[in-house]
Amino acid sequence: MKLSQLTSFLESIAPLAYQEDYDNAGLIVGRPDQEIQQALISLDCTEAVVDEAIATNCQVIISHHPIVFRGLKKFNSKTYVERVVEKAIRNNIALYAIHTNLDNIMTGVNARICETLCLKNCHILAPKHNLLKKLVTYVPIANADAVRAALFEAGTGNIGNYSETSFNAEGIGTFKGNEKTNPYVGEPGKLHRENEIRIETIYPAVAESKVLTALILAHPYEEVAYDLYNLTNQNQQVGSGMIGELEVANDEETFLRHVKDKMQAGVIRHTAFTGKPIKRVAVCGGAGGFLLKQAIAAGADIFITADYKYHEFFDAEGKIIIADIGHFESEQFTQQLLYEIIQKKFANFAVRLTEVNTNPVKYFI
Ligand SMILES: [Zn+2]
Repeated sequence: MKLSQLTSFLESIAPLAYQEDYDNAGLIVGRPDQEIQQALISLDCTEAVVDEAIATNCQVIISHHPIVFRGLKKFNSKTYVERVVEKAIRNNIALYAIHTNLDNIMTGVNARICETLCLKNCHILAPKHNLLKKLVTYVPIANADAVRAALFEAGTGNIGNYSETSFNAEGIGTFKGNEKTNPYVGEPGKLHRENEIRIETIYPAVAESKVLTALILAHPYEEVAYDLYNLTNQNQQVGSGMIGELEVANDEETFLRHVKDKMQAGVIRHTAFTGKPIKRVAVCGGAGGFLLKQAIAAGADIFITADYKYHEFFDAEGKIIIADIGHFESEQFTQQLLYEIIQKKFANFAVRLTEVNTNPVKYFI
């Protein structure tokens, strides 16, 4: 298939608009119209992974971490980043990254950590603002159900665990078409009054073109009247970190053993035990230190993340246990997650998981 088929599918699940400002997710090397037969999945895109792609005849590498983060000014093989990009281009291998946009969705990196740790009732720890919009439209009463159904189908009306939410009020619409019009009701040149329903519904801004297309197709009028509003509400489905609960509270040592085992962590660096049983657990794959305040505010007993520095551990202040399980360890199951997402959608397309362990950190025990 074409590379763009795979990337548009991935971006329908993890829209590029959901990545953080500093990130560089998306197609880094390659042409969207390039033919691909097989994809290689890895957490990092290292030279060894590009060599593996060449050896196993993969035309695209889907990695979690983008190989290029900043502007590259020279391509003379001095750094591994330059060498990876150069080798990929020479061998016609596309490089695609699905990074913080995959961290920030309900079914992404953090959801997989929650699943691995057997957490229940999981939700986003720090939901993002300004990602939702509201659509208001005015529909003749007889057509309201059909228009509403088309809007829901296009992705409107989802709030938390509720779907198909809308507000509907009856009123009178007026219009007068000029001689060039062919109105659905009424006559050109005559003021018409029509009993209409005002439908209000919410939608993610990334779905806007799909929602408007559905509206125009389902609405009977020649000129469809609608209003679009920006909302500052949180989007509970998008944001950083997750928090969930253990079915049964564990003592601290038992829980950390469970984490070490399930997350295959070589070592866990943690702050002092607080002496409380562990029930609520906050997680963030990779460097999640910026979420500590939210984890404490959400009542988490422990915060599982990575990349903690010495001085940052002091911020636990006996309110929570900070547990650093390692960056690679926290995100390693992302490879499996991507594999499953792609396999489920494209059953006949070949996907491979890398056999290279790209973790640059080793433990001397
Ligand atoms: Zn990471």
